[in-house]
Amino acid sequence: MTMDLDQIRKNYAYFDDFKIENLARNEAGGLEPEVIAILIEEINKRGLDLDLIKGIEAQRKEITESELIELKEKITSLKCPECGQNTSPLIGTLIRTVRSFIVFTSYKKTPLISCEACAYKKRKNAMISTAILGWWGIPWGIFRTPMALISTLSDNKKKDEISDGIITVFAIENIGEIRTNWDKEDELVDFIEHVNSLN
Ligand SMILES: [Zn+2]
Repeated sequence: MTMDLDQIRKNYAYFDDFKIENLARNEAGGLEPEVIAILIEEINKRGLDLDLIKGIEAQRKEITESELIELKEKITSLKCPECGQNTSPLIGTLIRTVRSFIVFTSYKKTPLISCEACAYKKRKNAMISTAILGWWGIPWGIFRTPMALISTLSDNKKKDEISDGIITVFAIENIGEIRTNWDKEDELVDFIEHVNSLN
């Protein structure tokens, strides 16, 4: 398939800045080199943040073991997106919540990146609301509520493993965003807060 680069150039010229930034931060990994060139041209032409180009480059190559370590260290050294404190390294936790409604029971297992104290607080709140709001759904509430509570307790035993998994996935999935904002830590903290709130 041949690409109509002129058409792509026209389309990109028509996109607003937000769309161009989003392509650069999140989708550059899937674009052909010729299209990347057009994207970079557009970033330069508009005078957008040149760090976007670092983010693009980061998505275009395989992540090495040492780069992954560097990304993870960056993430864990940030201040907590939930409470704004910088007292302990950030960790990843799973928050398990069961809620029963009239006709169905929902079981959510969501990752959270925060400081240790916030992780503890969120897990505790999730257990309390699960215990109060989860059990009465028939039949799933009755099964899933104790399951969620037991799993939360057993997560505790492998919490380093879980944390490492969550931080690793976050680093790989968001490498463009992380590299773009490498020197703007407040933006990275906002971004993690945003991802936490989507879950
Ligand atoms: Zn915190």
